Amino acid sequence: MEALLSRNYEGGTIRLARPLAPGVSRVNITDPTFSDLAGVLTGAKPVTYTSCSHERLPLLQDLCARLKLKCIPAEKFAGRSCFHMEGSKEIFFIGRDEKLLTKAALTWKDPKNNERWSVMLGYPECCIRMYRQWLDTMGQGQDLVEMAYKGTAGKEKLDFRMNNVYNYSSRIHNDNAADQRSYAKVEKYNSGYVFQTLHVIGWHPCSYDCPRSLRKAADIFAFIKHYAPEYAAALEAALAKPVLFWGKYRYAFVDGRLKDGRIAGPAVSLPRSLLDDGLYRRLALSDEIRVSGGRAEPFRGGKPLFSTLAARPFVLNFEKLPARRKGPGERAAGHR
Ligand SMILES: [Zn+2]
Repeated sequence: MEALLSRNYEGGTIRLARPLAPGVSRVNITDPTFSDLAGVLTGAKPVTYTSCSHERLPLLQDLCARLKLKCIPAEKFAGRSCFHMEGSKEIFFIGRDEKLLTKAALTWKDPKNNERWSVMLGYPECCIRMYRQWLDTMGQGQDLVEMAYKGTAGKEKLDFRMNNVYNYSSRIHNDNAADQRSYAKVEKYNSGYVFQTLHVIGWHPCSYDCPRSLRKAADIFAFIKHYAPEYAAALEAALAKPVLFWGKYRYAFVDGRLKDGRIAGPAVSLPRSLLDDGLYRRLALSDEIRVSGGRAEPFRGGKPLFSTLAARPFVLNFEKLPARRKGPGERAAGHR
C-alpha cells in the first residue's frame, strides 16, 4: 500500500476512483499537492500556491480550466526579484476567485504581510499566532511539532489527519543553514518519498486538538477519500502510527498500536529519520515499548534497552479514525 505514496508510482500521479471533472481522472502528486487542491475545492483554503516547471505548466493550466479554477503567475505581481522566488521555479496562485487571487498575490509580495497571507491560505488564526511565535525565534527555538504537542490538551490519542511530523514546509527557517542541511539529508535517505505530500493539512496546527484545524482536516481528508480511496488509505496507513519523537529530524514511526501503556512487537517503519543507528538498533531489538507520562522506553525480555531516562522520547500517538464514526465536522465530500 505504501507504494501508492512513492515518488514514481504511476509516473508520479494519483489515479482517481471518481473523476474530479470530465477528463480529470488523475492528478499529479505535487503541482499542487492533492491536499492543497482538495483544500481549494472544499473551500478549506480560499487560495493555494504551487511551484510548477515550465514543462508541466500546460498540464496545470488544463487542470485548472477543467476544475473551473483560476491560476495566475506570481511573477506578474511580484516580479522576479521577490524574496519568495528561488532559482528557476515559477510560482502560481490557484483559487476560485480571481479578485481574491490578485489580492493574495499583492499581499504575498511583502514579507511584512505574512499573517494576512496566511489567513488567505485558509490557516486558522490560532495556528497562525503560534506560527508567528515560531518565526520570532528565527527557527532556533522549539520545533513546531513540539509546540503543537505542548499545546494539546488530550495527548493520549491524536488524530492522524493532524500529523505534521513529515511536513517540513514552512518549518525550516530561511536563515538556518544547519536546518536546511538536515532536511536535505532526510530527503536523500528517503529518495522514494515526496515529503511535501505526506500530510493531510498543509499548515502547522497550534495543537493536535485545535478544533478549527480538525474541521478543515476532516473536510480535506473526506474529499481525498471520496475521489481517491486507495490513496487516502495509504496516507492514513502512513500517518496513523505512534511516533517516538526526539526532535525535528530524530523520530521513529512505529508499526504497532499503543494500548494500556504499551506497544507490543513494535517495528520501525519508513521513511527513516536522522535518528542515530544505536537508537534504531535498540528499537529494532525491542519486543515491547512501554509508555508512561507520555514518554517511551523500549524493553526486551522485560529488560530496559535505554540506559538513561534522558533518551526517552515523547510519544505522539496518531491513530486511525474510529470505524463508523465520523470525525469532527466531517461531511460528505464534493464540490461546493
Ligand atoms: Zn489552531
